[in-house]
Amino acid sequence: MTIQSLDLKIPLIREKINLLEQQKIGIPTPNCAYCGSSGHVDMTKDEYNTGREKLAQGSSFSEAFPFLSPDLLEMLISGTHSWCKHTHIS
Ligand SMILES: [Zn+2]
Repeated sequence: MTIQSLDLKIPLIREKINLLEQQKIGIPTPNCAYCGSSGHVDMTKDEYNTGREKLAQGSSFSEAFPFLSPDLLEMLISGTHSWCKHTHIS
């Protein structure tokens, strides 16, 4: 491989890395108390890493993951699916 062809590839690789960083990953959640299945909450790797850092510094889950709805926050913390909870309450 010549140096010239490498030069051409670098911007493409950078673009791919950016895409990967913006890609959402599924964070596995604990088992739901109602149905017993686990689930996952989607966020980007960056959001996950930032959130984990904030948690380690003593932030609450809602401070660490401010972009998640209360339902998703509960899923992340306890594993409880909002749909299972609603089914069992009504
Ligand atoms: Zn459930």
